[in-house]
Amino acid sequence: MSKHTVTLIPGDGVGPEITEAMVKVIEASGVDINWEIENAGEEVYKKEGTPLPERVIESIKKNKVAIKGPVTTPVGTGFRSVNVALRQGLDLYACVRPCKSYKGARTKYENIDLVIVRENTEDLYAGIEFQKGAEETGRLIEFIEKETGRHIREDSGISIKPISVYGTERIVRFAFDYARRNGRKKVTAVHKANIMKYSDGLFLEVARTVAQDYPDIEFEDKIVDNMCMQLVQKPELYDVLVLPNLYGDIVSDLGAGLIGGLGLAPGANIGDEYAVFEATHGSAPKYRGLNKVNPLAMILSGVMMLRYLGEEGAANRIEEAVKEVVAEGRYVTYDMKPTPDDPTAVGTSEMAEAIIKSINK
Ligand code: NAD
Repeated sequence: MSKHTVTLIPGDGVGPEITEAMVKVIEASGVDINWEIENAGEEVYKKEGTPLPERVIESIKKNKVAIKGPVTTPVGTGFRSVNVALRQGLDLYACVRPCKSYKGARTKYENIDLVIVRENTEDLYAGIEFQKGAEETGRLIEFIEKETGRHIREDSGISIKPISVYGTERIVRFAFDYARRNGRKKVTAVHKANIMKYSDGLFLEVARTVAQDYPDIEFEDKIVDNMCMQLVQKPELYDVLVLPNLYGDIVSDLGAGLIGGLGLAPGANIGDEYAVFEATHGSAPKYRGLNKVNPLAMILSGVMMLRYLGEEGAANRIEEAVKEVVAEGRYVTYDMKPTPDDPTAVGTSEMAEAIIKSINK
């Protein structure tokens, strides 16, 4: 029997290609995993009327750990995001996105080593939305006018932004515990409390209270717009960032940009019981089936998963091999070459093969 059973969701777009690359690399590291394959997304929706069948959730609940490729979310219409549904359905409240630069990656910055901790269940992503012109939207507009004297234009759509003490406390605690466990020195809470006093203001107030339980870790806060500028100008001043959902989403991409692009940025969604690992990037549909995109974000998400499973040795072997391949700069995909049309760029599977070769050396 395998030591670990993990639910594997290949996803769509470029998902299946990078998932295959990740599986091969993890298997080359010598770790014994039984992959339980479950599909989710548009194809499943067409056949079964739901993009996320209950059996996928059941598989993750049974195995406790999953790794998934990106899943396309149709814009404006169709089903709700599978990614958001998974995070909410399994209460994966912490999204952890390390942004670490590897020597040889194409970026203006060196020595970046940030960890972004994004709240995953609340904020504008809670999915409480009122469509323009709908009857309930009209009632909400009336209610708001009656209660606050504020007028909202009738042709408005409305999204609600809930931020709770409960949700904030556990994400900020998660960030501090993560900092402690990983020898980190500072946690920065990011918000817009000067404008949104009752949602972001609450986030900040709770963060300040939680910080008092961690006197060994430095705490500070930054307003999100200033944070973006600071990250571009002096990213080396920051360590662990903790953010509400929307800012966390945006700043994660900024972080990915600092280390050389989305192709290199891994991630994990973690709750008290379950964990789902996935790259920061989406399904990049225009590159689907072309064996073109960078498999590193997915492979490094696999490395995070191995550490979560206690397979430190296998995780280190893969990370060392990744470092070597990136530093050499030869067997890397187009996004890691000096120009995107560089004829020496290799494909997804060739880059994975180079990593496997380095592991086996
Ligand atoms: P995207 O991340 O898929 O792609 C944006 C661009 O980034 C690509 O066109 C490509 O140039 C580059 N890129 C992304 N991944 C890369 C890789 N591995 N290697 C090299 N270059 C890479 O973002 P998008 O176009 O905004 O989203 C496409 C779809 O993915 C949407 O339906 C979106 O909802 C979904 N999405 C899913 C997830 C997820 O599954 N967790 C996350 C984000 C977006």
